[in-house]
Amino acid sequence: MEGLLELVYPPACVACDEVLPGTGFFCDECAHLVLETQSPHCRRCSEPGAFPAGICPRCEGRRPPFMKAYAPFEHDGSVAKAIHRFKYEQRPDLSRPLASLLASAAAAFFKEVTAPLVPMPLHTGRFRERGYDQATLLAVELGAVLKRPVRDEWLSRTRETTRQVGLSEDARDANVRGAFSATAAVKGSDVLLVDDVYTTGSTASEAARTLVAAGAGRVFVVTLARARRELM
Ligand SMILES: [Zn+2]
Ligand SMILES: [Zn+2]
Repeated sequence: MEGLLELVYPPACVACDEVLPGTGFFCDECAHLVLETQSPHCRRCSEPGAFPAGICPRCEGRRPPFMKAYAPFEHDGSVAKAIHRFKYEQRPDLSRPLASLLASAAAAFFKEVTAPLVPMPLHTGRFRERGYDQATLLAVELGAVLKRPVRDEWLSRTRETTRQVGLSEDARDANVRGAFSATAAVKGSDVLLVDDVYTTGSTASEAARTLVAAGAGRVFVVTLARARRELM
């Protein structure tokens, strides 16, 4: 069956669609432009750097409501290109290879964090524009690869927010405040939030705060990529 599927849908580079000779995610050319996130990094938000006690100044100043936010890749080069295609170029089919990529690149993290997966809820407006919800697709495929439950009903958006791009950090925080609602079903359970990109963490923090307020245990965040702070 697997062999038959590969004949119909041969594995292709997630960044440029070049058909790959064997298995894998990137063609040779795109593989050169894949940037893995660096260690050491802040053990809460994964900001790269060697910090006292492993915590960056920002997390030291204000502890995030999540235990750890992790991404295996920088939001740059071929990974950024693949995510752009997935989100903005009508390629919901990329959810499957991107989930496999995430599962293998973050295998150690998934071994350590075994909580159920909860996709970061998308705005209904965005859903209408796009016709699909990339975080949910990614979480569902990831759940299939990891054989782990996906609880997309645990967290939802209660209101639309404006785009975060170009907003200052305080404005981002204000923009997402009260934007989510969590069900009582989260009570006592750890949660692993899934999204495509981690930017300043405003959205992840607000989602985590909402889950914790509803009685969730520890909240973790995993994304495919992490935007570098100096580029924001
Ligand atoms: Zn390629
Ligand atoms: Zn940090």
